[in-house]
Amino acid sequence: MSVFRPDILEGRVALITGGATGIGKEIARTLGRHGARVAIASRKLANLEAATAELAAEGIDCMHAVCDVREPEQVEAAIAALLERHGRLDIVVNNAAGNFPALIEDISYNGFRTVVAIDLLGTYNVSKAAFHAWMREHGGNVVNISAPFQHHGVALQAHVAAAKTGVDSLTRSCAVEWGRHGIRVNAVAPGAIGETEGMRRFSGATGRDADGARNPLGRLGSAGDIASCTLFLVSDAAGYITGAVIPVDAGASVDMLKIRPE
Ligand code: NAP
Repeated sequence: MSVFRPDILEGRVALITGGATGIGKEIARTLGRHGARVAIASRKLANLEAATAELAAEGIDCMHAVCDVREPEQVEAAIAALLERHGRLDIVVNNAAGNFPALIEDISYNGFRTVVAIDLLGTYNVSKAAFHAWMREHGGNVVNISAPFQHHGVALQAHVAAAKTGVDSLTRSCAVEWGRHGIRVNAVAPGAIGETEGMRRFSGATGRDADGARNPLGRLGSAGDIASCTLFLVSDAAGYITGAVIPVDAGASVDMLKIRPE
């Protein structure tokens, strides 16, 4: 049951990269349930078809496009197909990411480069293409899905931390440059989100179960927690917010000493 009115995104069109799985799919569902027509884009057609059917069965107007966000031409083609069908593009959620835990000395040169290419350059490619194809003239909302841990040293995630640091920086720069076009650009930084590929891989590599009790609120996050914050940011309720990177992590990133008072 949503705390938001079901029609707050009525008439709007949203593109969610990596929207066929995990957090991205939940964002697509949440924006769709609040009135947006959604498009999901990623590399694997089978996943896109399955997610599109799942969301359509829930009454959500969903289309998909096969697209590797590292390839500007594919990104432009996906946005052109969306505009052809819907005639507008109000919201972009840059959620696509590559992730595998690895030590700095073990990760291949290509592996490090790939994560930066998907997370950071992909976010740039999609944002820029959306700007030129629609938002420069009409305004809009961009939400980048970041992470909260890159402000510290983190083991096994150096490549992701480097890429997400860039995503945060790009968020602020786009917000500053594009405010004059009526475009708001923000980021959501998810903490440990249960039942996601990201958490499964991290738990597998560290041998540590995802454990919500380590954060101040004492629970793992859900994909719905990230989707709710995204919905808020793209709604008119957040009309004066741009350039913000909002941690949605139960306070984990501000909890230096991890002492739990009784
Ligand atoms: P996920 O299920 O693995 O989702 C990643 C998505 O990105 C997939 O749908 C994948 O689809 C797509 N993708 C990967 N490479 C792509 C490319 N080159 N072009 C287009 N799409 C591509 O992961 P998740 O755990 O839900 O994470 C979603 C977001 O939250 C990511 O930005 C992640 O960094 C962030 N995050 C997650 C957590 C967590 O606890 N899970 C914590 C912090 C941040 P295809 O394979 O079909 O391309």
